[in-house]
Amino acid sequence: MRKPLIAGNWKMNNTCAQAVGLIEELKKGHWGDEVEVAVCPPFTALRDVKQALGNSPIRLGAQNVYCEDAGAFTGEVSVPMLKELGVELVILGHSERRNVFGETDGLVNKKAAKVLKSGMVPILCVGETLEEREQDKTQDVVRRQIVQDLNGLTGEEIEKMVIAYEPIWAIGTGRSATAAEADRVIGYIRGILEDLTDGRLAQTIRILYGGSVKPGNAEALFEMPHIDGALVGGASLKANEFLGIIKYAAGKEIG
Ligand code: PEP
Repeated sequence: MRKPLIAGNWKMNNTCAQAVGLIEELKKGHWGDEVEVAVCPPFTALRDVKQALGNSPIRLGAQNVYCEDAGAFTGEVSVPMLKELGVELVILGHSERRNVFGETDGLVNKKAAKVLKSGMVPILCVGETLEEREQDKTQDVVRRQIVQDLNGLTGEEIEKMVIAYEPIWAIGTGRSATAAEADRVIGYIRGILEDLTDGRLAQTIRILYGGSVKPGNAEALFEMPHIDGALVGGASLKANEFLGIIKYAAGKEIG
């Protein structure tokens, strides 16, 4: 059974004080064991957020990490540094990392291997630009990203990952993919994973949708057979919206 995951990507938002305030609001929400919830604050707020979470079931994620443990890599943060703070999940290959900071599939691949070896869970983001979508290249793009980003990883390692399909044209634009569109691409991704693993694994790997998810479209998205939750940007910064999305994922076990 695949347990839905709702992960909030706070991006470069929230000072430590604001982050703790948001966690206090989220802790007022109630949901059962049927859904897993994570927040990914900026690096600077990780320690305070961990402390504010206390014994809350909300898991702590990071938005990025570097592929070396230590050394002359100015501005970067390593896997041991995140582990020390209690981080359990790490977003990798977000389109903003790829497009604003020039991250390549090769680098994302190295990061994925490193994160997996540490026992943390990578949330690997893939997705096409508007131009690629209009040229009918969505499948080619996500296949290339998945194949290159997972290169050299074993089936057992891939099984521990979470994939997030995030069409770039839907991120922060208010223009979500329809539930049917998202489900079709995510089903296609499941097929790629089936080719890369032994087939059985493709049914156990969680694949999220990300791109302007709000309480208003979450229900339709989570009703789809291949969509195992969401990576949420803007709406994860408002407790009532994030809790509204979690509510629709609770109660959905897929498999
Ligand atoms: C994201 O940044 O991963 C994202 C999906 O953003 P938004 O929900 O704001 O579109």
